[in-house]
Amino acid sequence: MRTLADLVLPGSTVALRCDFNVPLDPQGEITDDLRIAGALPTIRALQQAGSRVVILAHLGRPKGEVSSLSLAPVARRLSELLGSTVAFSTNPSGDQRVIDSLKLGEVALLENTRFDPRETSKDPSERAELAAIWAKWADAFVSDGFGVVHREQASVTEFANMLPSAAGLLVARESEVFARLLEGAERPYTVILGGSKVGDKLGVIESLLPKVDSLLIGGGMAYTFLLAMGLEVGDSISQPDFVDTVKGFLTKAEELGVNLMLPVDFVVADRFAPDATTQIVERSNIPAHSMGLDIGPRTRELYSKVIAKSATVVWNGPMGVFEMPAFAGGTLAVAQAMAACPGFTVIGGGDSAAAVRILDVNEQAFDHISTGGGASLEFLEGKELPGLTVLKGK
Ligand code: ADP
Ligand code: MG
Repeated sequence: MRTLADLVLPGSTVALRCDFNVPLDPQGEITDDLRIAGALPTIRALQQAGSRVVILAHLGRPKGEVSSLSLAPVARRLSELLGSTVAFSTNPSGDQRVIDSLKLGEVALLENTRFDPRETSKDPSERAELAAIWAKWADAFVSDGFGVVHREQASVTEFANMLPSAAGLLVARESEVFARLLEGAERPYTVILGGSKVGDKLGVIESLLPKVDSLLIGGGMAYTFLLAMGLEVGDSISQPDFVDTVKGFLTKAEELGVNLMLPVDFVVADRFAPDATTQIVERSNIPAHSMGLDIGPRTRELYSKVIAKSATVVWNGPMGVFEMPAFAGGTLAVAQAMAACPGFTVIGGGDSAAAVRILDVNEQAFDHISTGGGASLEFLEGKELPGLTVLKGK
């Protein structure tokens, strides 16, 4: 993969694709700036190399211009984190005046690229048309938005093909970590999967099953596994359509000698609410009309023991409804066990990365917290990521 070292930068205007798709509260305040902070090393490297840095990014899934999805608040937060001014262009295709006014080492952010429908067009010629507008003011393209490298979009793929281009430091690091998890992880290798639906992670299970020593299942996906074992799950979230697929995984794990662990107990609730009435039950005793919202204390202990002895651990998907304190204990236990594990520990983006921050676990204790949810899952599925393919070769 081409890196920053492959680009000649001094005096150039570099277009930098970042992932600034941050969560916002109902008032439009940024609630988590992990992704903005993740971009700082590359921005600083480009500033130090003597480039003008013009950043492209998106926020949400706007249809046309939607003021609540403006990147203006991100420009302000970026400026605070960077400790220098960030100019803002309200035009997603770049505003010649703003770009011309930048001195070497200065930074600008363009408005939400998705305000221009060509960014996400299914027609490659429309995407190329938008990229050609950017290419008028840019000398080089740096791809550092790991969260979007699984997308074919103008600012990810077409733009990279139009100019000298390379991976930024974040994309290079994320790629290196996930490549190691896919090929060449040190063993014992443990994968922990949770989250809401098993259907979202079938590809990851399939891809990783032959590579791991232990696969620990939690979260909403556990209940489809219980169905596959012929157990009752009450009103817990489950996907009966996937029971046969999941049965296949159970058989495959046995054939491969993989230690596939399912929760042995759960925290169940009478309704989906923070103040629900809860109880701890064995997995064979989930009452009708109750829903499992977290893994139970015995499961936490069993999983923590496996994690402690692992040389590599990757985790994707919370163990329960961590957004409600009553159901956050399982997620917290797994996060703490990983934080204490001396092996190579990776959190695969999305809600698990958010959970670690919300639950106040020391982030420094992990080797890597990915900024890309969908991208990290697709990487682990062994899929080709178009935004990385365009950066390969010399
Ligand atoms: P990730 O983004 O890490 O891949 P997902 O998006 O698949 O994870 O799932 C995260 C969501 O799963 C969280 O909002 C959490 O509340 C929910 N969840 C976890 N366990 C359960 C459960 N037992 N029942 C319902 N929802 C759950
Ligand atoms: Mg998610």
